[in-house]
Amino acid sequence: MKILVVEDESKTGTYLKQGLSEAGFVVDLAANGFDGLHLATSESYDLAVLDVMLPGIDGWQILQGIRRAGSDMPVLFLTARDQIEDRVKGLELGADDYLVKPFAFSELLARVRTLLRRGSKSKEGDVLRAADLELDLLRRRATRGGRRIDLTAKEFALLELLLRRQGEVLPRSLIASQVWDMNFDSDTNVVEVAVRRLRAKIDDDFEMKLVRTVRGMGYVLDVPEGTA
Ligand code: CA
Repeated sequence: MKILVVEDESKTGTYLKQGLSEAGFVVDLAANGFDGLHLATSESYDLAVLDVMLPGIDGWQILQGIRRAGSDMPVLFLTARDQIEDRVKGLELGADDYLVKPFAFSELLARVRTLLRRGSKSKEGDVLRAADLELDLLRRRATRGGRRIDLTAKEFALLELLLRRQGEVLPRSLIASQVWDMNFDSDTNVVEVAVRRLRAKIDDDFEMKLVRTVRGMGYVLDVPEGTA
């Protein structure tokens, strides 16, 4: 999942980007309102975290731009001013939530996850499944055949992507951009290594293999025919 952070204080911005990346999100950071508005309306994100006070274009104007462009992506505001008029203004403009600075990162992460859940249309969006494999997005937990599987944040993000697009062959380039925010050109086998590790955890001990390599194309997660 991809998140846009617009924050002009570089320390806070870097802290947010690092924390959210470690939590398994792909994060773009913009340091001013112009870049923020441009990214928000030209790229696709699952959620935006907007500082209110920004040079050039402020957080409210970015939100207006996002809504004018027809996007209903969840927006979380960061405000240093815990003032009632800010909240009223934000709600009128279509903000989804607020966090008053300074805040604990764990609090931000909890709000982000709540907003992302609210954004996903159906309740079933909380748990992704394939055969006896389950990924609980709410509790950040994976199980297969009821047995708990420990995943790193990146493995979790990779499995979430594969499950969301079950049955679809996903090219390495797509996986690299969605999970690592990397270009395909980069001469790395990070995707292969991660897929191998993920398989070792979710497939190796089970007769039914869910993740397959499609030669020269990429990877697919699906339930083998005749077993569903
Ligand atoms: Ca600011």
